[in-house]
Order: sequence, then C-alpha cells, then structure tokens
Amino acid sequence: GQMIESVLMPYDDGRRTACISSQAGCAMGCVFCATGQMGFARQLTSVEILEQVQRFHVELLSRGERLSNVVLMGMGEPLGNYNNVMEAVRRINQDIGIGARHITISTVGLVPRIRRLADENMQIKLAVSLHAATDEERNAIMPVNLRFPLSELMETCKFYVEKTGRRISFEWALIAGQNDSPEVANKLGHLLKDLNKMCHVNLIPLNPTAGFDGKPTKQADCEAFVKILAKYGVTATTRVRR
Ligand code: SF4
Repeated sequence: GQMIESVLMPYDDGRRTACISSQAGCAMGCVFCATGQMGFARQLTSVEILEQVQRFHVELLSRGERLSNVVLMGMGEPLGNYNNVMEAVRRINQDIGIGARHITISTVGLVPRIRRLADENMQIKLAVSLHAATDEERNAIMPVNLRFPLSELMETCKFYVEKTGRRISFEWALIAGQNDSPEVANKLGHLLKDLNKMCHVNLIPLNPTAGFDGKPTKQADCEAFVKILAKYGVTATTRVRR
C-alpha cells in the first residue's frame, strides 16, 4: 500500500481541524511540495477519505472534544478526484455532522472543476493555491498554470463568487526572496482587486522540504506584505507555522 497523511491540528481557540488527503501522491508537480516531488500513486476512495475524518472524530469524542473543521489540504489535488471527494464531503457533513461551512476544499486551480463546484450548491469553502501573481512565475513553480493560466483562473474565481455568493481563500506560501517582495505584493493586490471583499489571502511562510531550495519569509516581511494587500482592499492573514 501507499502512505497518505492526515493531521489533526488543535488551535488555542478550541477549533479542532482535520487536514486530510484526497489522493496517494499527487500529479500536479508543484515544485515546493514534498508530495508533488513524489508523483501520483492513486485516487483515494470516498470511504478512505471519510475514514481519515472518522478516526479523528472518534478520538476527539473519547476525550470529550469535538472535531470542528475539515480541510482537504493534505496529499493530492481534491478536484482531481472530484466524485470521490464530493461523496466524502457529503458524508462528512451528513454522517459526522461537520457543517459544510467548516469544510474547505483546496485546489491548485483546475478551472473546469471549479466551475462544476460552483454548480453544486454546497456551502463549502473553496481555497485556491496561488503562490505567484504572474504566469511566468507561476509556470515555474506550478505546472498546472501552463494548462490554466492566471487570466482564466481569475475569471473562473469571479464566476464562482458571483454564482455562489461565497468568498474564496487564496493560499500563498511565502518563499524568502522569491515571492515575498513589495513588488510582488502589489502585483497580487492588482490581480485580486476586483474580487477584493469576496476573497481573503492566507499567507503561509514556506514549509522547507528536502527537494526544494527555499526558505520561509521573515515575520517583518510577512507584515509588510499584508499591509500592501490592504491598500487594494484585500484582507490577508499570516498563518502560524506548526
Ligand atoms: S497540488 Fe497540493 S499536493 Fe499536489 S503537488 Fe501541488 S501542493 Fe502538492
């Protein structure tokens, strides 16, 4: 068998978030990601996706706690395993009782699947991994951008927001000296300014991996980045690394 990873993240405010996988390995090949460096092994079944949540749910109940959130941000591209993921999400919602609003599906930007998701009429949260604000820079770190360039992705995000009335989160791994300069922040602000109130940027200082030569951004540079985005009406928060 293959290894997958699922992690329970306890937060000080009482939230208990399960970060789960949708595939064993991943075909998307993002250069900064350990899973991407491994390649794709296989799709997980809906039951295998559900079981990851079930396990944390039972474990927490036995301690008198409650699982509050589920994020599909572990191994794999969730929208690349669309039907199994959607089936699992429905059961996480109905069988385990996690509100759809507390379930996040993350994607690198599979445009046709984002459109399909917009038609599902579910209250789930969508997170789009961006990490670069120009095609040239994004092509270099996320091969998916060669298939679905930024203009197409942003147009689709606008469609999603208009169709669902729901905000989109944009994930941005801050890599020191690569995508954390004021110039890049201005480009990102420009890219998102039409969506501004309907989006939020999550800045995540890079998690160093063996196969990628990048370092996380320093705290002061993270703060400067947030301030520049604010000028475009775009809210951003820096996620604490754990
Ligand atoms: S889509 Fe996610 S899991 Fe796949 S390579 Fe990119 S960052 Fe890694």
